[in-house]
Amino acid sequence: MGAKKVVVLGAGISGLSAAWRLAEKGFDVEVYEKEPYVGGLAATLKKDNYLLDFGPHPFYSEDAEILDVFKDLVGNDVLTFERDCLLLFNNSYIHYPPRPGDVLFNMGFKTTIYSVLSYAKSQFKRAFISGDERTFEEWAIDSFGKYLYEIFFRPYTEQFWKIPSDKLADDWADARVAKLNLFKTIALLFFKGKTGERLNQIERDTLPLYYPAYGCGMLPERIAEKFKKSGGRIFLSSPITRVNLSNPDKYSIEVKSGQDEKPVNADLLVSTVPLKHLVNSILPSPGKKVLKYANSLKSMGLVVLFLVVKKRSILPVSYVYCFDRIYHRITEYNRFSKKLSLEDENLLSVEISCYEGDQYWNSTDEELSELCIKDLIRDGYIRREQVKKTYVLKSNSVYPVYLVGYHEPLRNVREYFQQFGNLYLLGRNGSFTYIDQDQAMRIGFDLADKITRNHFNS
Ligand SMILES: Cc1cc2nc3c(=O)[nH]c(=O)nc-3n(C[C@H](O)[C@H](O)[C@H](O)COP(=O)(O)OP(=O)(O)OC[C@H]3O[C@@H](n4cnc5c(N)ncnc54)[C@H](O)[C@@H]3O)c2cc1C
Repeated sequence: MGAKKVVVLGAGISGLSAAWRLAEKGFDVEVYEKEPYVGGLAATLKKDNYLLDFGPHPFYSEDAEILDVFKDLVGNDVLTFERDCLLLFNNSYIHYPPRPGDVLFNMGFKTTIYSVLSYAKSQFKRAFISGDERTFEEWAIDSFGKYLYEIFFRPYTEQFWKIPSDKLADDWADARVAKLNLFKTIALLFFKGKTGERLNQIERDTLPLYYPAYGCGMLPERIAEKFKKSGGRIFLSSPITRVNLSNPDKYSIEVKSGQDEKPVNADLLVSTVPLKHLVNSILPSPGKKVLKYANSLKSMGLVVLFLVVKKRSILPVSYVYCFDRIYHRITEYNRFSKKLSLEDENLLSVEISCYEGDQYWNSTDEELSELCIKDLIRDGYIRREQVKKTYVLKSNSVYPVYLVGYHEPLRNVREYFQQFGNLYLLGRNGSFTYIDQDQAMRIGFDLADKITRNHFNS
């Protein structure tokens, strides 16, 4: 009997990691990717002379095996650097990691005293109240007190998600989910040692940071090379449009290739494409109930505006998190690697969270540049004449949105997939779970091992 054929949908880090290991184990593996490049959210795009990550992507991991694989793949191009961030709050900076005295000097004495008193009150109340599923608002007030919630957590959260805090589930407050660092920062600033379980995730932020000299996309590109050397095949610019699951022994996938659609057969299927998209592509139809559940799983998009700036050093740190701006984070790329732009230049990015079809999503590149540059000039980071060029990258499926009550639809959708013994959901959008690059590699390898155990020579 020949090797089983595995089709992997999506060439992000999780799909490529699974594909690579499966090919090494002897499976016949094909990867179909809608974009003309590999890497998904962790790709680096080359535009003119510039290398653009989709948001800054340092690599860190407490998983020794994964860290070794990363270092081995990126080789001499691995750079190391310090994690340094600032929060721009009330026109003052708060450092991350926190330094003694920052709280008092930078947030102000009054804020600190109110915060501590309000926190004490919330802890007192909490001793008498217990609840199951909480909203983000309830979690934040319980954990940090109403005062900090009102001045800090609510504005930042609502600015980022564009959703009222009492409509968000408290899951996203988990430090792993809140890839914004704000909550981790505050937790460390005020309540070190009191966030229980969460501190373990917070501690991930103290891990050493690595970055590939030519952009984070080096990692998926190197995995793709290894995969191909092991006999695997990658088809780029090949979005999947239909997934026919009617024959449990041989799935049939429709792939768009130029103007044509071509059928591809698979014994086993691994999907990393957004869960909602997968469900809507399935034949025979999964039925109204599953479709309704899947369509209620909301994802938020991201617009990243890059500025090529004639200034070698711009920010006091690598990242600045912002309140009251249309963007929530500014990043300076020379602090990651000086090879991403030309010698006398620098790259700055600002990230704007948005939803497909909203005001920011629909803005032209010129409108976005104008809006952001105005604020960057006002905050003293750049002068207009220093901006040489701008680029805009967009993706509509970046952050799974954990709305209150999202567990129920997600559980139902996952249950629906359990009937298909040869289909596996994987990855950040594929399984509607927040993960970092190292975790995407880990779950990709682990899934490949599981498939090998269950299906090799079976
Ligand atoms: C702004 C931002 C900053 C981040 N910062 C960090 C960081 O500092 N450190 C870190 O470790 N991680 C970071 N991450 C997380 C990291 O990017 C992700 O964990 C990782 O890239 C997820 O990989 P994935 O394979 O699970 O998903 P994806 O990268 O989403 O891969 C899914 C793939 O499926 C493809 N696809 C979608 N639809 C179709 C279709 N119809 N047909 C075929 N293919 C399709 C997509 O194009 C994509 O390539 C960050 C993420 C973002 C968005």
